[in-house]
Amino acid sequence: MQSDEVNVDGSATNPICAVRRVDALGRIVLPSAMRKMLGIRHGDLLEARLEDGRVVIVKVERECTFCGGRDGLIEMNDKHVCNRCVSGLVERSVADVEARVWSGSLAR
Ligand SMILES: [Zn+2]
Repeated sequence: MQSDEVNVDGSATNPICAVRRVDALGRIVLPSAMRKMLGIRHGDLLEARLEDGRVVIVKVERECTFCGGRDGLIEMNDKHVCNRCVSGLVERSVADVEARVWSGSLAR
């Protein structure tokens, strides 16, 4: 059994309730069974917030910076953009370059 599957008193962990000791940096380890149940993987973002004196931890779902979509995400500089928005940005960029070429304002 891994160390994160045992409570601080050595008892087995219930996947929906676990006692954890906070380390010197304020960190705790979520039990692997709990992470698995919630689909939390290495590198995922979690939001911790105070609600009525309790800490509530919620998984942050990755979404497109522009449209909020969750399909076909590409990560760049810690941001996510969907394929559809990338295509839209490319089309706008090409149209902008073409307009500048036709108007003669594109510096050479
Ligand atoms: Zn998008």
